[in-house]
Amino acid sequence: MRPERSADAIVIGAGVSGLVAARGLELAGWKCLVLEARNEVGGRTLSRRLDNKSADLGGEFINSGHRRTLVLVSELGLRIAKAKIIWPQWRDRRGRLRKLPDLAPGDVIRVGRALWRLDKLAKKVDPFRPLTSPIGAWADERSVGGWLRERGVRGLDYEFFKVLIGAFATAPAEKISLLQVLWWIAAEGGLGRALRQKYFLEQGAQALSKSLADGLAGNVILSAPVRSVSQANGLVSVRMACGQTYAAPWMISAIPLNQLAKLECDPPLEPEQIALCVGLSYGRAAKVATVIDDESSMPSPTFGGSPLALAWPRCGSIFCGFAFGEDASAGVSVLADDLRFLADLKRQPKSVHVGWEREPFIQGTYPAPEPGQLSRLGPALSTLSHGRVYFAGAERSSRPWSIEGAVESGERAASNVDAMLSKG
Ligand SMILES: Cc1cc2nc3c(=O)[nH]c(=O)nc-3n(C[C@H](O)[C@H](O)[C@H](O)COP(=O)(O)OP(=O)(O)OC[C@H]3O[C@@H](n4cnc5c(N)ncnc54)[C@H](O)[C@@H]3O)c2cc1C
Repeated sequence: MRPERSADAIVIGAGVSGLVAARGLELAGWKCLVLEARNEVGGRTLSRRLDNKSADLGGEFINSGHRRTLVLVSELGLRIAKAKIIWPQWRDRRGRLRKLPDLAPGDVIRVGRALWRLDKLAKKVDPFRPLTSPIGAWADERSVGGWLRERGVRGLDYEFFKVLIGAFATAPAEKISLLQVLWWIAAEGGLGRALRQKYFLEQGAQALSKSLADGLAGNVILSAPVRSVSQANGLVSVRMACGQTYAAPWMISAIPLNQLAKLECDPPLEPEQIALCVGLSYGRAAKVATVIDDESSMPSPTFGGSPLALAWPRCGSIFCGFAFGEDASAGVSVLADDLRFLADLKRQPKSVHVGWEREPFIQGTYPAPEPGQLSRLGPALSTLSHGRVYFAGAERSSRPWSIEGAVESGERAASNVDAMLSKG
């Protein structure tokens, strides 16, 4: 029996990418249905209220070059605030807090030289086609940690890079492709810009998705995990875990690649797509936020140490922490304890926490390719459709680690599916 047409397009995943795609299609006059597995929209942007302020437990910062996001934020009437994070305090491996700069002059020169080299190498990488850059294959063969060691970066200097790179990549420097790091620097317009976390959303980054969803005329169905996708007779049918099916001429998949790997597809995805979805490594990170009762005793931003690699005041009384790699699995009590130690608090305050690799339907932060993975799996990222299924999600953009990438891929999906629908 031919399934009944539910909409012009079905979007799977109500993160920023899927909702931007649905908004774009609605603005072009098409009817959309959005299906989201979790019981809230936002995906990897997740905000919680603490002490009547917002805390971001996922994507948070918007850089000044994130033009699409800034335009969208202003169109939706959301307020941005300036992030004033500098890192005056360093925590060494033994847990001692020291003021920066605390490196010996020789170390400062070596760190500075390595930073300068990274920045210079990144100029040779095209953020829209990192692999075809002249140094693409060479840079993907090695880890950024290996490259630093080849250049004699050791000891405390290496610790510094481990945190700097790990906090961006959400993976250890020894396991992340040098090309991925150069891609990040190139796409953000240089190392200086990449490191400058310029803005955050006052209401929390999840407000972006909530506002997009509220503005849609079509349905956004929550707690609706899609299990299978089949294509026949000019329609794509999706079947939910509960057995319900929906059909439309086009579908946009805006879910993380590791989740796409779990869908039963008929016809099956191409072997390169399956290899990409199953094989690409994702980073691990956890964020924790707590309330400091006495705002005047708010601790300084702290860089380095373990399990939290970074800790910073967000706004008002909110103090946040970030752990990556194996430390991300430490669990809420360990991470909250570390935040308490940094804040020198006697009692455990109220805190909220998310460990991203354990989040159902997400299971990671964003792609953190190991050496060789971009060369092997990357070409499949640029194949954007499979029959009547169009691929979106931050992973399919020139900035796969960001909200900006999610907006970019959502806009492109809307424009391409609009063109297909208009053709009839
Ligand atoms: C800890 C952390 C910190 C970050 N920091 C920053 C930052 O400071 N700045 C920045 O710009 N970016 C940051 N990012 C990255 C940014 O948050 C993401 O790139 C972006 O939110 C991804 O959006 P998306 O819509 O592509 O995917 P997602 O947000 O993952 O949305 C996908 C949605 O699909 C749903 N889904 C999955 N499977 C199914 C299924 N079978 N059926 C239906 N729905 C399904 C998921 O539940 C999810 O809601 C961070 C991410 C993390 C995790």
